Amino acid sequence: MSLPNCPKCNSEYVYEDGILLVCPECAYEWDPNEVAEEEGLVVLDSNGTRLADGDTVTVIKDLKVKGAPKDIKQGTRVKNIRLVEGDHNIDCKIDGFGAMKLKSEFVKKI
Ligand SMILES: [Zn+2]
Repeated sequence: MSLPNCPKCNSEYVYEDGILLVCPECAYEWDPNEVAEEEGLVVLDSNGTRLADGDTVTVIKDLKVKGAPKDIKQGTRVKNIRLVEGDHNIDCKIDGFGAMKLKSEFVKKI
């Protein structure tokens, strides 16, 4: 099992001390389980794969767009997504549509 780098100074020499992780370089100690929860925003695609900022996804079904003359077609590739809070939890730009918000349940990570 590999340990994460120190969240404060990014040192790779982190070691385990009981349930805590300890950084020998800046003396920071933390509970890795707590850090995971603080990351907060968890956005899953239609397959349950966790998405991250900068991912490329494809749209899995035709999506109607309010005010647009056409739908976003199934299979449309969306590059460089940004995760946001809310019902439509993906911020992105789609060619021909411009800045958009999508629901993660309608996309699939490539
Ligand atoms: Zn450190």
